[in-house]
Amino acid sequence: MRALKVDYAFRRGSAVAKKARVTREREVRLYENNFLEALTRVHPAVPLCVWGPISIGLIYLGYHLDISPIWTASLAVIGAFVWTFAEYCLHRWIFHFEPKNDKVRDFYYPMHQLHHDVQEWDRLVAPPMMAVPFILVLVTIFYLLLGTPTLFPFFGGFLIGYLFYDYIHFYTHFITPKSRIGKGLRTRHLQHHFAGDDIWYGVSSPLWDYIFRTHVPKGAKLNEL
Ligand SMILES: [Zn+2]
Ligand SMILES: [Zn+2]
Repeated sequence: MRALKVDYAFRRGSAVAKKARVTREREVRLYENNFLEALTRVHPAVPLCVWGPISIGLIYLGYHLDISPIWTASLAVIGAFVWTFAEYCLHRWIFHFEPKNDKVRDFYYPMHQLHHDVQEWDRLVAPPMMAVPFILVLVTIFYLLLGTPTLFPFFGGFLIGYLFYDYIHFYTHFITPKSRIGKGLRTRHLQHHFAGDDIWYGVSSPLWDYIFRTHVPKGAKLNEL
């Protein structure tokens, strides 16, 4: 298994920024078994095809089960907002958790550390093998907290938040943005990759980084972090 050690400050327009482009090569093979290996990769359109109809269906189900249209829409918006917090927590405390045991660390590696080491284009969005267990755990937690039918539009919005995250993440690696918002999203995420993996855990929004003080203060020199 190849492990890149990247330890330098990211500067927009620098050689590092160019290096941050994703690779279309399949550089890292995780499993000898072809089936298991295939499960670690995914065409970027798959999450949208799988979770898109489910999220719309859940929102419609809430409306269908006599939740008023305004409350259905509000629950979906609240769900998408709660996703931004879940995204921050998952990235900071689950994906960047460092198991002490070697065997556990090997098991854990494909979840996120692999993506920090090498950015392969068909591993930029979450493959179902990874997304399904997380979503099952989260939907169970929200079911216990909210019950049905409140859960349906809420979780529909939550999944839409997740889809935004997955594709914004894809975008930050794959596309050189022109807009101010796009440049901000990309710069923050590439700083997380190349300047320090203890900054900018939020990908779709910097909100929780500002709240938890994992943002980069204006004017800070990244290589001093
Ligand atoms: Zn990334
Ligand atoms: Zn990370």
